[in-house]
Amino acid sequence: MIKKIIILLHIFLITCSSAQNSPYWQQHADYTMDIDMDVENYRLKGKQKLVYTNNSPDILNVVYYHLQFNAFQPGSEMDLRLQNRPDPDGRMVNNLGTRENPVYESKIAKLKPDEIGYQKVLSLLQDSKKVKVEVTGTILKVQLNEPIKPGQKTILEMDFEAQVPVMIRRAGRNSFEGVALSMAQWYPKLAEYDFEGWHISQYIAREFYGVWGNFDVTIHIDKNYVVGGTGYLQNPQEVGHGYEDKAHKLNLPAGNKLKWHFIAPNVHDFSWAADPEYIHDQTTAENGVVLHFFYKNNPETIENWKKLQPHTAELLSYYNKHIGQYPYKQYSVIQAGDGGMEYGMCTFITGGKNYKGLFGVTAHEFAHSWFQFVLATNELKHAWMDEGFTEYFTNLAQNEILKENNTHPQEGVYSAYYSLVKSGKERPQTLHADKFDFNAAYSISAYYKGAIFLDQLGYVIGEENLSKTIKKYYEDFKFKHPNPNDFKRTAEKVSGLQLDWYMNYWTETTEFIDYAVESISKNNIELMRKGGMPMPLDLTVTYTDGSKENFHIPLREMMGNKPTRSSVLESWPWVKPVYQMRTKKAVKSVQIDPDLGMADTDKTNNFKEVN
Ligand SMILES: [Zn+2]
Repeated sequence: MIKKIIILLHIFLITCSSAQNSPYWQQHADYTMDIDMDVENYRLKGKQKLVYTNNSPDILNVVYYHLQFNAFQPGSEMDLRLQNRPDPDGRMVNNLGTRENPVYESKIAKLKPDEIGYQKVLSLLQDSKKVKVEVTGTILKVQLNEPIKPGQKTILEMDFEAQVPVMIRRAGRNSFEGVALSMAQWYPKLAEYDFEGWHISQYIAREFYGVWGNFDVTIHIDKNYVVGGTGYLQNPQEVGHGYEDKAHKLNLPAGNKLKWHFIAPNVHDFSWAADPEYIHDQTTAENGVVLHFFYKNNPETIENWKKLQPHTAELLSYYNKHIGQYPYKQYSVIQAGDGGMEYGMCTFITGGKNYKGLFGVTAHEFAHSWFQFVLATNELKHAWMDEGFTEYFTNLAQNEILKENNTHPQEGVYSAYYSLVKSGKERPQTLHADKFDFNAAYSISAYYKGAIFLDQLGYVIGEENLSKTIKKYYEDFKFKHPNPNDFKRTAEKVSGLQLDWYMNYWTETTEFIDYAVESISKNNIELMRKGGMPMPLDLTVTYTDGSKENFHIPLREMMGNKPTRSSVLESWPWVKPVYQMRTKKAVKSVQIDPDLGMADTDKTNNFKEVN
């Protein structure tokens, strides 16, 4: 993959100098970090060497970093957002009122100086010379001494220190399940620069976007702590804790700390968790991928964590088969954090008292290894492409692996979407993830409306075309930053059908689908499009003699139709709200969308029968 990017870059340098016509490019960042963790006061000191390659066609005079721990300070944008929203995340607030009349108080606003999070840059050198930095909330701006020209590298060396915040959201100390260190968003992380420019949103606890590269991370921590996270441990005999090769002797160093050396190639983030009481199990799954499990020694949940292990191996096989091969050699399921969150080669999840919940969250977060950690979409702008696609596969994998035998495993996502449409609080999926006024509207839009995007696309272009589209999309865009148009073009190339309308209505507007059988008179049927979003239609007609016939009405602007066994009628252009059709026999009843393939918000008018 790295090779391919270099070739692309060469082609770019030789053939063109205009950014508008440039082929795909992406930035590259190689991190080497040495971290000294003090588990008594939750502080760390770090050295970070970053080799940054500017593959863009632009000259860069500045670079930006994220300092995400800074969000956990009174007055931060994360804090202000919590204080000013109608439905704040329950994990981040105290309710001073009642259940019926809640009065919320931001937990961040109450943090004391030794409880807040921070990342402080002590010094920063560009190619051995000191550079000027400026911090605004969770963003660090670096005014470079030397601009980075297209194709050039620069070396940024930083000394930093950080304080791990009290656990409020995703990362922090002492989770409510008693995990000591959940270390996500823990290091100064370079912001991504792409064809749209810099992506430097303040961290308000929602989505992420990172630069592809390689990580070499050494962590010095109290010898009793077990560490799990992104990457491959390079010195298992020097740490033990379940990583060691039992056939060989351990070679533990003297002193109170162990040195953990991890390497993670071709990722865009690095996270880790540590606790002195972790049980560490491992199992080998398909293609020799090692699955690690880190969990607390809690008699109430231990059985579930054991049961989860073969099921996680089945999840790997399921996703490998239906999306594409998992490209790394390990994956770690780690009890940490505050719910479920995906990271490079690992997840932080909570719980375990309810097995179905533990399995479901693992299934979801592991699917993110494909949709986010390999297909690294900008989640802040297109959350539905990672959350929605992940949700879609989670439901299918859970149905198969837990043998739920549900004939419509996505049913739940449709009902959640209908309730959002009814609420009047829906916003277009193209709205930036941070900017949704209601948390619930964001979640349903990203997760459920996003899952319907895929499920319903199967109805629009045919199930076989959908399955081919997903595999081709993964193959063509792995280790890149695909955007909505990349997915649309893949589906168009696979199906030979035009899909601009589908992307536009579904992802950029809040138009909804509602079709109705308006009237039946002998051999004549009149159908009506009542909703703003047009669709191709499947229908079943039952004749007065008891026989049935299936029809398909193509949507004209698709310039074709999905493979179907139904009788294909004349196409329906979107400009016409009404469609008339004539059958050979007298009609008894008409059913629109008999297989529930589309998100028709009012199903009561989808069927009509003559008496
Ligand atoms: Zn997710």
